[in-house]
Amino acid sequence: MAKDFRIGHGFDVHRFRRGRKLMLGGVEIPHTRGLYGHSDADAVLHALINALLGAMAEGDIGSHFPDTDPSLKGIASSKMLAEVLRTMRRKRFKLVNVDITLVAQAPKLAPHYLTMRKSVAGLCNVRVDRISIKATTTERLGWVGAGKGMAATALVLLAR
Ligand code: MG
Repeated sequence: MAKDFRIGHGFDVHRFRRGRKLMLGGVEIPHTRGLYGHSDADAVLHALINALLGAMAEGDIGSHFPDTDPSLKGIASSKMLAEVLRTMRRKRFKLVNVDITLVAQAPKLAPHYLTMRKSVAGLCNVRVDRISIKATTTERLGWVGAGKGMAATALVLLAR
């Protein structure tokens, strides 16, 4: 029988705030500001979680992990990802590959691509060649270009 493939897309945005750590892909990236949110505001993992949930037609991150839940305040996004991956395995899906694009004016992210990829690969328990992370600026246009915040998109392919 043909394999059952499922594609998923995720998108996430957070604003920058001083005094916060910049967490991306489960690692801290050195910067003058971090992303603000109820959790650790890891835009890479949030986009990935939304893509995984999308591939399984299981709703979105907000319905699984509401930002009104005080027990989730400051939670590491890696814990939310682990829970979604448990759902994925329970449904007998395997993660084929992930392609993430960060949209940010600063900091420069290319020097951190491999660190983030290794971290996400470790969290997902797959080889690093199945995890792509790259970034673009918006040529200083719009709120991203003005440095107000950062966006991330993720595409995933699942198979069973
Ligand atoms: Mg988010």
